[in-house]
This record gives sequence, structure tokens and C-alpha cells, in this order.
Amino acid sequence: CGIVAYIGSQNAFPIILKGLKRLEYRGYDSSGIALFDEHISCFKKKGRVSELEAWKDSVTQTAQVGIGHTRWATHGEPSDANAHPHTSNNGKLTLVHNGIIENYASLKKELEQKGYKFKSQTDTEVLVNFIEDIQKNNNSTLEEAIRFALKRVIGAYVIIVMEEGYPDRLIAARKGSPLVIGIGDGEHFLASDASPIIEYTKKVIYVNDYELAIISRDEVSLKNLGNEPVTPYIQQLDMEL
Ligand code: GLU
Repeated sequence: CGIVAYIGSQNAFPIILKGLKRLEYRGYDSSGIALFDEHISCFKKKGRVSELEAWKDSVTQTAQVGIGHTRWATHGEPSDANAHPHTSNNGKLTLVHNGIIENYASLKKELEQKGYKFKSQTDTEVLVNFIEDIQKNNNSTLEEAIRFALKRVIGAYVIIVMEEGYPDRLIAARKGSPLVIGIGDGEHFLASDASPIIEYTKKVIYVNDYELAIISRDEVSLKNLGNEPVTPYIQQLDMEL
């Protein structure tokens, strides 16, 4: 299982697709990609990553931002509906997640009592709606809502979130699952390990547990869950493809 994301000025789809193929060795049962052009669109399938190639002809060639995922099912069988990315009820948030949300059942119950509907059996769809609900109730920014949500979430995760209306920004966070950010020239690459990144850049940041990364084309800002800035430690990778 793994995640890949891109924000920059290149066509995002082939970069993300290639990245997911590089992560295939980690094992998976389904995969998906969401692209942010004018709006967010999503394509996901049970089976091999190459299934996503079917999207190539209909996919926007202009999206320069996107997220991708290979899933190793923990909650809910391998299926198109359970594959990631997952979108929140109001359609605004789209998220990929590796890991497990252990307390998803109680969070799901809370959300269902508020009228939330679920299209999948995943713990992930609970998380994206939990973030949406916090954002709505507190009228808060996505960043604040994620911080708040992750304080209540028990489990292991790496997530990357896109929000309608904010096409120039990805927000990522991790605890217990790996996340690497590759720094390019006016572009950033995110992945579970460096293998999808090294052909583009060797300058990377390994995000630590309980850190949030706010990523635009030109900037990465790291914060802890207490909203304090964290100085990124930029490393030069010493490896070849
Ligand atoms: N727990 C999530 C699911 O079952 C994510 C699994 C993964 O890490 O791929 O969908």
C-alpha cells in the first residue's frame, strides 16, 4: 500500500500513475487517483494499478495537482467503492489514507447520528467526513480541522487532503506511516517512500510523526499538532533509481 501526490506545473496524471507503479512492490488490492483541475475528479478501481490507465483518454491533461493511492484493505473488502481516494459528504474534501483508524466505529456512529451517509465500509471515509464535520461546526480552516481531528483519532495514518476552492495546496499528515516530500523547482512530490521521487529530485524531507505539512508549488511548511512551526530537515538522497 502507498500514496503518491504531485503539485507543480507538469501534467499530474502520468507522474502519479508512474509513482503508484513504483509502489506496487509494497502490495495492494486496488488503486485510485484524484486530480485537481478546476474541480476535483476521482477515478478508482479494484485490481491492478494499470486499470487506472483506462482513465487516460477521458482524464484532464491540464491538472497539475493530484493524489494517488494503492490500497491494502483493512476495513471493507477490496472493491471499487472501498478504493481511495474518498470524498466527504459535501463534496469538498478528497483524501487518501494509508493505515488504520482504530476508533472509526464510534466516530462513524456520531456522524451517522448527524445524518452523514457512507458509500464504503472503510475507516478512511469516516475520517474524511469527521474532518468535514469539524470544519463545518467550527467554521475553521482545513488545516485547523485536520489538526483537531487527528487529536481525536486513534491509529496509524498518513493522509493527503485536497479541498475544493483551494487548488494550490495539499495538506498531509502522518503518524506511524511513512511520508517523504521531494522538493523540485516550483513543484513538490509526495510519496510513501523515495522510489517514486528520485527520478525528479534528490532533495527530500522525511515528515515525522504528529506533523502536518502544508504544501504549495513553491513552499512546504511543517507544523506540529499544536500549530507550532517545525523546521524542515532537508536531506540529499544518496541513491540511484
Ligand atoms: N484502512 C484503510 C482501508 O482499508 C487504508 C488501508 C491502506 O493502508 O491501504 O481502506
